[in-house]
Amino acid sequence: MDVLTLFFVEASILFLFSLTVLAGSIGRSGKSGSYWFAASNFCGGVGLLLHCASDGPVLIIVVLANLFTFVELTLLTKAIAEFVSLGRHVWLYLLGLSVLMTVATVRYTLWPENHNLRIAFISVVAIATAASSATLLFRSLRDTVKVSTVVMGILFSLYATTNTVRLFNVWTFPHQSFFHIWLDRTIIAALSFGFIWMTTTRLRDGLERLAGTDALTGTLNRRAVERETATVFSRSREHNHSIAALMLDIDRFKQINDSYGHQAGDLALCAVAECLRSTMRAGDLIARLGGDEFLVIMPDTDADAAQLAADRIQTQLAELRFSCDTGEFGLCASIGITSIDGGNLTLQDLLKLGDRALYAAKAISRREVSAPLTPIPTT
Ligand code: GH3
Ligand code: MG
Repeated sequence: MDVLTLFFVEASILFLFSLTVLAGSIGRSGKSGSYWFAASNFCGGVGLLLHCASDGPVLIIVVLANLFTFVELTLLTKAIAEFVSLGRHVWLYLLGLSVLMTVATVRYTLWPENHNLRIAFISVVAIATAASSATLLFRSLRDTVKVSTVVMGILFSLYATTNTVRLFNVWTFPHQSFFHIWLDRTIIAALSFGFIWMTTTRLRDGLERLAGTDALTGTLNRRAVERETATVFSRSREHNHSIAALMLDIDRFKQINDSYGHQAGDLALCAVAECLRSTMRAGDLIARLGGDEFLVIMPDTDADAAQLAADRIQTQLAELRFSCDTGEFGLCASIGITSIDGGNLTLQDLLKLGDRALYAAKAISRREVSAPLTPIPTT
């Protein structure tokens, strides 16, 4: 296969990618990375076709073909930045670099002719875009999408490396070998496949997270507890560490709703979730099981440490104050504390014991707070 055929074949593949991604993304809300990816492939295809037009006007080939190729790489970085939600401005710098390099390419190709510099400019833009994309990817590693993200990061690093080699070799071997061009284009094609793989896994991961998140408070929901605690439990069983759980239920929450309105109740639920988030360690799991009931699971924690955590929460809850049209109020909650040793424990055991502990704590708080049951007004 010669270079022109290679370019034709890859241009067709890029157009196909562009159309497929566009067809799959139209009407779908969410990240706009796919559109940038489609635009990147389209520009890449046009750039390659213009490079093939060897009989055409030199100016068009030199100016447009290079510009489209540079923009292809820049938009690929933009697509990555959109998907990982990082580096919002990096692509603008790369676009500026691409335009600058196009001007320089034109200048040194036509007045006077210096093809070595033209290749060197292409390499510089490729290195800059690939290195930025690899950095963005390695900064956004998450367990569930790690494999595809790492593969994409490696492909970008490889692309930056091959272009660095070309940059340093350009004066020693001015005519690029077919192998180098083929390797370059193969990595670009692999990046296109990798992008689709990575975005699919990220979208699936995003949907799973959404399905496991409580819409009001942003904590985990009951559905997600089992999935999220699986590794915590197997690790604790393995090392025979204890796990503690706190079951929290707001006292007389119905009356908060009745007296101050459902919106105020929602506000209180969000504040309790925030209080738990700010009080607990990063490795603890926080979930809203439903209504006004929350669960905190603390790995490697014994009963004494769990009691201290519960005291910290109670102190913070006592300081909460809410104001709404109908007045100002505070709240208190009952917390059931459980801790069991690693041995044979399961999530169901922990939940059962936690429920029992909460029931006992509720009984005490009901005795302590005499009727009539009202939310604790602060004024
Ligand atoms: P207790 O002291 O025994 O816990 O009494 P309680 O009034 O808190 O009773 P319970 O825990 O059973 O009350 C749960 C209430 O939470 C019932 C329901 O009206 C209310 N609720 C459930 N989900 C929501 C929600 O998303 N927002 C609001 N504002 N209220 C909710
Ligand atoms: Mg309650």
